[in-house]
Amino acid sequence: MNGCACCLLECDMDVCVLHMSVTKENTYFVDILVSLKESNEIGNASQDIRITEPFLAEGVMHTDGNEFLGKFKTPNAKMYLSHPWKSYISHVGQDYEGGADEFRLKLCKYAVEMGFEFDYVANEHKRITASCIKKDIEGCPWRVHASICSANGHFIIWRLNNQHICIGRIRERKSGMMTSKIVCSILVEQLRSNPHIKPIQIVDDFKKNYGLDVSYYNAWYGKEMVMTMVHGDDVLSYQKLGWYVEEIRKSNPGSHCVLECDPNTSHFRHLFIAFRGSIEGFNYCRPLLFLDGTFVKNKYKGTLLGATGKNGNQGFFPLAFALVDVEDEANWTWFLMNLSTVLFEDDRTITFILDRHKGLLQSVANVFPTSPHGFCIYHIEKNIKTTHILLALGKIFVRKWSNYSRIVLIHPLQKCST
Ligand SMILES: [Zn+2]
Repeated sequence: MNGCACCLLECDMDVCVLHMSVTKENTYFVDILVSLKESNEIGNASQDIRITEPFLAEGVMHTDGNEFLGKFKTPNAKMYLSHPWKSYISHVGQDYEGGADEFRLKLCKYAVEMGFEFDYVANEHKRITASCIKKDIEGCPWRVHASICSANGHFIIWRLNNQHICIGRIRERKSGMMTSKIVCSILVEQLRSNPHIKPIQIVDDFKKNYGLDVSYYNAWYGKEMVMTMVHGDDVLSYQKLGWYVEEIRKSNPGSHCVLECDPNTSHFRHLFIAFRGSIEGFNYCRPLLFLDGTFVKNKYKGTLLGATGKNGNQGFFPLAFALVDVEDEANWTWFLMNLSTVLFEDDRTITFILDRHKGLLQSVANVFPTSPHGFCIYHIEKNIKTTHILLALGKIFVRKWSNYSRIVLIHPLQKCST
């Protein structure tokens, strides 16, 4: 300020005078150095206060300290998607159809948006009471009480004191009330359309769209909660496999289902399923089956083995699939033995297309000794790249397969096929 490089602020009145002075001089930034009076320790909190509005009338002073905190917001501040959360707790009689869970979730979102924290005085299925976390320290009277309405099962706010007197209420990017449940509630629809979104992307999206800092753990756990909601619980799914197989046998006779568990521990080992519709439909497809396995990326991992044909439209025709622990010769043999049961009535000679997995090669030779087999060109290219380290050659191989000199490729291909 003109004529005054620095001044001492000892009380609220000094702050107000400073505020009026800088407003009058159209000064937009002031450095404030905060020190502890008792210990004479000088803090390093230097804040830029952006003053966006003049006082309502010169000489009229604000009495609520939180009014000053509000000045940090710029008039052109971005409207975040969390803005409607302000209305989640507003009046007595407010109705929450989702019961206690919905009320808890909305209470947390409201606290995040309004910039305060609360404690549960009572947190039960039928009644919830919460009070401001600064109730004991500063005597803040904010309190809400809601309970279940026996007529319709809704949660209703019966008592609400929505006034705070505590200091320091400001919406912050990092809120103590931010939980993985809030992340979960927001991610449900997004994960249905894009289940492969990564936690780090969720953290970035929250920062950009909600102006909130979410920890990596909350993002990861929130995603896990959504995946459980959308796809079901892995543990329950495995527990229900026995029931599922029995139901297929009852409701879809002619299907081939085999569930094997460890006889000593009852732990899951194998599951083979070929539906009757697929078995009968394959009679009308060309006698060609592609065998391959892929990793299962759920909590318990494992491998999904599949036998897939081609229909008249050059599309996939899934015939049978199996869930096993690993892709090895024993599991491929078990799979092909079950597949041979399915193909028992099909007297055509089936040609198998393989990916050159060693266990699979041996298993096909053992279970279907008279069936011809071929190799998938995609896997041959991968094998050339990895086993012969001919990266550049592999690219040319794909692009100019028809006319590329076989003299150059014949040697690695021969090695691949042995
Ligand atoms: Zn309060």
